Amino acid sequence: MRRLPLLVDPHGREHRDLRISLTDHCNLRCTYCMPEQGVPWLPKATLLALPELLAIAEVAVGAGISEIRLTGGEPLLRRDIVEIVAGLAALSGPAGRPEVSMTTNGIGLAKLAGALAEAGLARINVSLDTLRPDRFVQLARRDRLADTLAGIEASLAAGLGPLKLNTVLMRGINTDEAVDLLRHALGIGAELRFIEQMPLDAGHTWTREGMVTADETQSLLASAFDLRALPGRGAAPAERFEVRPVGSPDAEPLGTVGIIASVTRPFCGNCDRLRLTADGQLRNCLFATGETDLRTPLRSGASAEELTALIHENLAAKLPGHGINDPDFLQPRRPMSAIGG
Ligand code: SAM
Repeated sequence: MRRLPLLVDPHGREHRDLRISLTDHCNLRCTYCMPEQGVPWLPKATLLALPELLAIAEVAVGAGISEIRLTGGEPLLRRDIVEIVAGLAALSGPAGRPEVSMTTNGIGLAKLAGALAEAGLARINVSLDTLRPDRFVQLARRDRLADTLAGIEASLAAGLGPLKLNTVLMRGINTDEAVDLLRHALGIGAELRFIEQMPLDAGHTWTREGMVTADETQSLLASAFDLRALPGRGAAPAERFEVRPVGSPDAEPLGTVGIIASVTRPFCGNCDRLRLTADGQLRNCLFATGETDLRTPLRSGASAEELTALIHENLAAKLPGHGINDPDFLQPRRPMSAIGG
């Protein structure tokens, strides 16, 4: 049997997951992600149009990618989002059709969830840092909590499950909601994932002391819940735990919670992710300082073989770890909103 071409990096990690940022624009301005004003937007002419995006994704799927996650910026701001999902879900490679999922702030899902599910979207992650409208305004600099909650409801109704919610805890800002957020997620049958804040904000204001660590998150949750680690993490960023009411070790689990400890418990050894920015640059890590330009060769008529070779070239330069904890760590030039979270 012919050996399938695999996306393996020099450290033996096989890559199956491609995160595609669809735009660097967003309808929120979360303090840990984007500045309130003065965002240096990507020039419009550099953004990949639908056929370009599909052409690169087709090559990636042909090379072994089996999971595609759409992100941004805010992916739902793309007017052609339903066509993008349909086009990606119809691709086929050595591993069959890719699973297409999305990370979104949920605004817009009330209108789009049904059409996205029909187009082939398999799963969705919605970011939710607070359940309090006034705090949402403070954190996201926009009064849109009701729209996010309506989007969550719509995606559940559309069967876009299992639904995941993403929360970044910030000391003194929303740590007092850790238990309420988890209770809310369990109540709607969603898995909440607490993400350690990473040095990727546009304002370069991240500090190690300011970050709420995974250990702290677990302590906060311990006031109300018993967490029992689940095995079988594989390449997933989240450590997952079964959740039971505190002091009831024999009770049925209420659900699960995930903790993504990118900074204090890095999981680079199992990383299987590549990232494509909205302007067609391939990155082998959130924190990579180099990128491989796929847009220019594509626009100059590069063949699928030539683009595949560029993907392998990018992968060959992947470092063993993100290096956040190294003394000479440099925050990437692009903020999270222009890389794709
Ligand atoms: N707009 C979409 C959303 O809100 O989910 C997708 C893009 S957003 C950049 C993707 C995820 O990255 C969100 O869950 C957000 O909370 C997270 N994020 C953004 N900046 C972060 C940072 N500095 N550290 C950790 N997570 C961050």
